[in-house]
Amino acid sequence: MECAICAKHRGKGPLAGPVVWADDMVVVSHRPGEFAGYLFVETRRHVAALDGLTAGEVAAVSQAAWCAARGLRSELAPEHVFSAIAGRSVAHFHQHVFVRYRGTPSEIGWMDGPSWTGAPVVDIGALCRRLADYF
Ligand SMILES: [Zn+2]
Repeated sequence: MECAICAKHRGKGPLAGPVVWADDMVVVSHRPGEFAGYLFVETRRHVAALDGLTAGEVAAVSQAAWCAARGLRSELAPEHVFSAIAGRSVAHFHQHVFVRYRGTPSEIGWMDGPSWTGAPVVDIGALCRRLADYF
């Protein structure tokens, strides 16, 4: 079965979302769905985990995650910008960079912000166009 993130990079499959920015090493995209402010930084190359990245990919991923976090902070003024590398669901390197909005109820866990039905409604396409300026 094909890797879901490789498919996504070709615009296919359930993970495909708006691309914020990309170069020859990394792709930064917005998570599909209604929750605004949840980005993924992914290597273009199919590689399973952090320890498999080249030094060049590490630099590219780090720079992109930094730009993503700065853009989210500036555009959405959240309570927090989280970043996480887990890799348990899809074995293609991806780093989560996502906001926790001010006012998110404390019983909603740090990874569960998108489940909050009270999150601000944001035009995600317009947000992605603005975020591109941070890269
Ligand atoms: Zn892949």
